[in-house]
Amino acid sequence: DVITVGELAKRMGVKANDLIRELMSQGNMVTINHPLDYETAAILAAEFNYEVENVGFNEETILNVDKAAVGEDKPEDLEPRPPVVTIMGHVDHGKTSLLDAIRATNVIAGEAGGITQHIGAYDVELDGRKIAFLDTPGHEAFTAMRARGTSVTDIVILVVAADDGVMPQTREAINHAKAAGVPIIVAVNKIDKPGANPEKVKQELTEFELVPEDWGGDTIFVEVSAKEKTNIDGLLEMILLQAEVLDLKANAKKHGCGAIVEARLDKGRGPVATLLVQEGTLRIGDPLVSGAHYGRVRTMTNDRGEQVQEAGPSTPVEVTGLSGVPDAGDTFNALDDEKAAKEVAQHRAQKQREAELAKTSKVSLDQLYARLQEGDVKELKVILKADVQGSVEAVRDALVKLSNDICRLVVIHTGVGGIIESDVTLATASDAIIIGFNVRPEPKAATLAEHEGVDIRLYSIIYDAVADVKSAMEGLLAPTL
Ligand code: GDP
Repeated sequence: DVITVGELAKRMGVKANDLIRELMSQGNMVTINHPLDYETAAILAAEFNYEVENVGFNEETILNVDKAAVGEDKPEDLEPRPPVVTIMGHVDHGKTSLLDAIRATNVIAGEAGGITQHIGAYDVELDGRKIAFLDTPGHEAFTAMRARGTSVTDIVILVVAADDGVMPQTREAINHAKAAGVPIIVAVNKIDKPGANPEKVKQELTEFELVPEDWGGDTIFVEVSAKEKTNIDGLLEMILLQAEVLDLKANAKKHGCGAIVEARLDKGRGPVATLLVQEGTLRIGDPLVSGAHYGRVRTMTNDRGEQVQEAGPSTPVEVTGLSGVPDAGDTFNALDDEKAAKEVAQHRAQKQREAELAKTSKVSLDQLYARLQEGDVKELKVILKADVQGSVEAVRDALVKLSNDICRLVVIHTGVGGIIESDVTLATASDAIIIGFNVRPEPKAATLAEHEGVDIRLYSIIYDAVADVKSAMEGLLAPTL
């Protein structure tokens, strides 16, 4: 809220009653002390030929001022932090089994038989070194987070069943991880099965530039059996090795900040959020802002159901005390002051409303030329789905040839079959358009695309697809009606 009706009237030199009458004619029953938000004040002022300047509020300033209270990250404050890992792969290749096996074999000392809780993430320890796992398997959560601009994953474990090999969702997972620039460790699973053929899996993955070290590449492959719990420690070793190479560091001395892994409304406890601390240390009682919600950390519980007082970098904890339920992938920040947290939250709520009203920033063929001219975009990212593999390749080859000095055309994902929700989330996360060749979007995918403003183009003739993209690049595309 920026200003009251009375204050606004005074500054414009008009009678408060005139303002009140105007507001009432718009259906707002207000009194002289009624606070107006910036938007309403601006519209109202415009009616009287005034302009309202928003001198206010800069969220970055508030968050930064607060960071300044604990100082910039000094090199000596940066300490190694545990890696955060997401498991991805084709359905039934053993993601859930592997998450369970890892958890079961690595109960932190003294807690064998303890009750574990699924809070959306957990951590394990190997010889005193920790690893945090996000335990929503699959790439939905991963991509949903990326779509919100959050990246929490340091390493992706790609699970491939040794008796099945590379399947469509394996390819999807690889493309998601690559689009996010996250290194992949391959876990070749189900090696206990009679039909297991790990060599074939390795062979198939070379096509995706995932080449094992003993074949001259630099991808770590680990053969495991989630069912028999074979070589789980070997996998953890390799994760820690990869983490060392990544040289992951964080400053635990500042206020906690990070991302929401999942959140829900609990009947008794109110909003409950699992959050992953990425930097700093979060403590009981800390004022907190997450998305458009705020509050204080009332309780903090780890994945073993224990109450904790504080949580440092790469630690997942379940927290209560927020005013509402944030979305997975929203960031959170602890602040000095609950009032500041509230202000930031309210400001964001306001911005969300504005963004709802003006949802135009996504790349679409219609606006491509304008955005190229503005230097706003330099490449067109495309997700390509088609009815048969032959068409995928033919359309891709034709599209890629359109790249020129001003606009590079990059196909970030291809697949055979209809356009599905995960195509749309990937498009949202990567600012891509989707081209369907002889396929249609599934209803859910169409709804999501509409909601997210993702441009889906459907064709049945290669020439048409190529001609449209070419025209769009040259600013000659006829508007779609
Ligand atoms: P997800 O869909 O990727 O999460 O796969 P699940 O973990 O649900 O596993 C799918 C099926 O494969 C289940 O019936 C598991 O018991 C089985 N499975 C998982 N890992 C192994 C393994 O290492 N060996 C064998 N033989 N079966 C496994």
